[in-house]
Amino acid sequence: MKATTMTIRHHLTNRLLMAYAAGNLPEAFNLVVATHVSLCDECRARLASFEAVGGAVLEESESAPLSADSFAATLARIGAALPEPPPPPRPAQRGLFPAPLADYVGGDLDAVKWRRAGSGVDQAILPTEKSATVRLLRIPPGVAVPDHGHRGLELTQVLQGAFRDEVARFGPGDIEVADESVQHTPVAEEGDICICLAATDAPLRFRALMPRLAQPFLRI
Ligand code: ZN
Ligand code: ZN
Repeated sequence: MKATTMTIRHHLTNRLLMAYAAGNLPEAFNLVVATHVSLCDECRARLASFEAVGGAVLEESESAPLSADSFAATLARIGAALPEPPPPPRPAQRGLFPAPLADYVGGDLDAVKWRRAGSGVDQAILPTEKSATVRLLRIPPGVAVPDHGHRGLELTQVLQGAFRDEVARFGPGDIEVADESVQHTPVAEEGDICICLAATDAPLRFRALMPRLAQPFLRI
């Protein structure tokens, strides 16, 4: 995957970018957001403007305390006054993994310690604090991740290959943001092995009995 030739069609929501800028996300989600932002010029530019607005609000509120009402007005005023910042440069990337992910893995794809997760899918859970879980997934072409719903939020960042589900096709650089309303079966496309980084903040609900029995062991 060449970061320079990637066309990203599925992005982070403003809500997630703002929560990331404010430091309100669990560590597992921070890693996925940081990974997407490293790959995506558009989200990196949006994040930069949220950070600029946030910084300006802090400066103003230090000189004069803000009531809850005037906070929104101040935010709007500062936001309107700020020039559109140029997108910050893309961080250097040597292998498949952007720097934030390479730091967690301690290297690139060849440093990942895969474990079998059933049906030919491999996974590697990365160490983070426990309120949410983040894992790398390795899905061979044509293979499906079992049909599941979510009790919470799931972010799935594609690093290599592509998958399709009931929502859309997700290729290299794309991120799927799935909440409890989404019930889906991601299937890896023919071609490259699909490598994804996925964070979840609650156990997934698998429909079929066998995957549900395996769930406590796989921590999916
Ligand atoms: Zn994006
Ligand atoms: Zn899902």
